[in-house]
Amino acid sequence: MNRPQRITVLGATGSIGLSTLDVIARHPERYQAFALTGFTRLAELERLCLRHRPRFAVVPDAGAARQLQAALSAAGLPTRVLVGEQGLCEVAGHPDVDAVMAAIVGAAGLKPTLAAVEAGKRVLLANKEALVMSGALFMQAVRRSGAVLLPIDSEHNAIFQCLPQDYVRGLGAVGVRRILLTASGGPFRETPLERLPDVSPEQACAHPNWSMGRKISVDSASMMNKGLELIEACWLFDARPAQVEVVIHPQSVIHSLVDYVDGSVLAQLGNPDMRTPIAYALAWPERIDSGVSALDLFSVARLDFQAPDEQRFPCLRLARQAAEEGGSAPAMLNAANEVAVAAFLERRIRFTEIASIIDEVLNREVSAAVETLDSVLEADRRAREAACRWLARAGR
Ligand code: NAD
Ligand code: MG
Repeated sequence: MNRPQRITVLGATGSIGLSTLDVIARHPERYQAFALTGFTRLAELERLCLRHRPRFAVVPDAGAARQLQAALSAAGLPTRVLVGEQGLCEVAGHPDVDAVMAAIVGAAGLKPTLAAVEAGKRVLLANKEALVMSGALFMQAVRRSGAVLLPIDSEHNAIFQCLPQDYVRGLGAVGVRRILLTASGGPFRETPLERLPDVSPEQACAHPNWSMGRKISVDSASMMNKGLELIEACWLFDARPAQVEVVIHPQSVIHSLVDYVDGSVLAQLGNPDMRTPIAYALAWPERIDSGVSALDLFSVARLDFQAPDEQRFPCLRLARQAAEEGGSAPAMLNAANEVAVAAFLERRIRFTEIASIIDEVLNREVSAAVETLDSVLEADRRAREAACRWLARAGR
């Protein structure tokens, strides 16, 4: 293809969205922003549109659309501003789009991400919650449409890089014994357990190695992020939960490893900067400059590993339980977590109550089969209601 590839960035104003646009801007001959979407921080979206001149922008409501459309038209841009979930799905599945970066946070990204998959696009998947909620349907849609699914999560991107190209034949068939999913352990890896109930949202969001959005930062602090990633790995690589082992590696230099039956272990290393997996997925199977500096092993000096402590990180245990249960359990886990994290960020609950809420929702709501999108959304709704009942009962 000699024209630049047209890229839709869902969640352009977020941490992953901005890193994606940084990589795109380094290669104007290869990539061009086709559509940019934002939900809050719409002044930032306007700035991004002026910089990248996309064909479409998407905002949450008609008022915001009028305002952004007026500003962009006044600046002489031909950009058309669309609205809401329908607008998101339209720019995700648009016939002129080559690749879609799915970087909306949470369940809100499910329908637009699926729209990109169903349209057979190259889908760069950051929005892990979409896959966790609807894994079976999502992977079926990938196979049916011929979409090319490339993981952006640094761990899954690393695993993808360490697997042979024909891994879809099955992990056993290509000689894989286990996947080793690395985790930094987050900001509370060594905090005395009795202090965990009193940690603040600011402390939870101060990740030692990565700069990320607030929801995933809290997930990293509780290690629910690793739990969601365990489920994500099972779908992406057709692994059983027991084949995925979590390894705490505080330096975040090894992004994950694959252990083969002959005793070989392959790892992918690099500085913790999401532009590496983003550039890899944009250019795959080629490699391009991402703007990330070369890894200096002498300044890293050492790589440490430890087993995760489930007493400290009960969310990890709950996620493994949901992964093993299957059906709608992962969607319920995700929904309960989204409600609990939002309540924690609003200072309505304690950090340690995030796990209490999810535990109750998973143990009260029965997991059912999820064969349609409606059944996934129904499980999501029921789990949110159950989590809200917990909050109401506790007077929060
Ligand atoms: P963020 O909060 O910085 O950005 C989220 C984006 O989603 C923003 O553009 C926001 O406007 C948009 N958004 C939020 N709610 C929306 C809604 N209801 N409808 C439409 N758009 C909405 O988050 P992030 O850190 O960029 O993470 C994005 C996704 O990528 C998450 O699923 C996260 O788990 C995943 N991820 C992030 C990182 C990272 O380093 N930041 C790493 C791996 C995976
Ligand atoms: Mg990750």
